[in-house]
Amino acid sequence: MDIHVDYDRCEGHGECVIAAPEVFDLNDDGDEVIVLDDSPAEALRRKVEAAVKLCPVAALRIAD
Ligand code: SF4
Repeated sequence: MDIHVDYDRCEGHGECVIAAPEVFDLNDDGDEVIVLDDSPAEALRRKVEAAVKLCPVAALRIAD
């Protein structure tokens, strides 16, 4: 599973960080996501899928 972020869309809402803190963090300014692990283990798929769903600007995508 690979994660793609559309940084033009991301506004730092942080829903993804709450859903999958193993994979996402926010930058120091709190306005853009940082991907800690852009190819996470399958065990994290449910959390990453939740992050994709929760992102209010649809900035996240999973590519299998
Ligand atoms: S939930 Fe979406 S907008 Fe918010 S930090 Fe994550 S990717 Fe960015």
